[in-house]
Amino acid sequence: MSIQWFPGHMHLTRKAITERLDDTDVVIELLDARLPGSSANPLLASLIGAKPTLKVLNKQDLADPERNTLWLAHYNAQPQTRAVLLDASEIAPAQKLIKACFELDPERGGMVKPMRVLICGIPNVGKSTLINSLVKKRAAHTGDEAGITRREQRVVLADDFYLFDTPGMLWPKITVPESGYRLAASGAVGRNAYDERDVAMALLGYLREQYAAGLIARYKLPSLDVGNDEALLSAIGARRGCLQGKGRVDLQKAAEIVLTEFRGGQLGRVTLETPEAFMAWKTAADAA
Ligand code: GDP
Repeated sequence: MSIQWFPGHMHLTRKAITERLDDTDVVIELLDARLPGSSANPLLASLIGAKPTLKVLNKQDLADPERNTLWLAHYNAQPQTRAVLLDASEIAPAQKLIKACFELDPERGGMVKPMRVLICGIPNVGKSTLINSLVKKRAAHTGDEAGITRREQRVVLADDFYLFDTPGMLWPKITVPESGYRLAASGAVGRNAYDERDVAMALLGYLREQYAAGLIARYKLPSLDVGNDEALLSAIGARRGCLQGKGRVDLQKAAEIVLTEFRGGQLGRVTLETPEAFMAWKTAADAA
């Protein structure tokens, strides 16, 4: 399945991020722990260059714990990079983030100039949730100062630590075909860019292979041996009473249920890619 997705005006964001990076010591890249590779914007990687980067694997509460460990190891093996897990239920993630950033740039500690950190992430990855929880915790100063545009928020987390929000919108980018339905299932891609039934079927195809127990438990199916992915979606729809005329299953309704429940973690803790799988897709896409 291919998803047609043409995010607009990335060049404006590129320019704004490039300018902001001049005054940035560490970049925090927020990733979706259920699809870390697919939720990374490759443009950001090219702009960051060799700057120290903290990869925050957010929504870790929804992701597969074993695969969380694999992804942490994958990123921690990269130069100038550290990775931490995070979820919205953490009341005060600030200390953890500050500590990780100072570990990336140890010479900053105690200097006259505060550490300046830029936080980036594609839509729906949890950036607002994180910034809000940081702001609530700290009675922070945000935006609206001279020289700071309205869109660019600054959060003072400590006297020696300033957090800046990305200037502009960092859209998801589908660089490997396998990322398409993953990004759509996670909610990062606009709803009118894809067909819910196609995305739900692709998701079910992966889940039945890798996370069958969660599917069986959630939909109380005696077995997943019901035929192809459409037949599985149909069986789920029938279970949930998504019927239209003449007892036919309403696949659209069934698809919406599957996607909503995946996003809400009701299908169990799921990660849609391993580092190994993602790197293989990327190598194939780069060669194509
Ligand atoms: P943004 O578009 O990056 O600003 O994303 P939001 O902060 O609006 O979050 C998108 C959705 O993900 C919201 O429904 C949040 O409640 C949810 N969310 C954010 N962080 C987490 C997390 O760590 N765990 C879980 N389970 N949900 C989260």
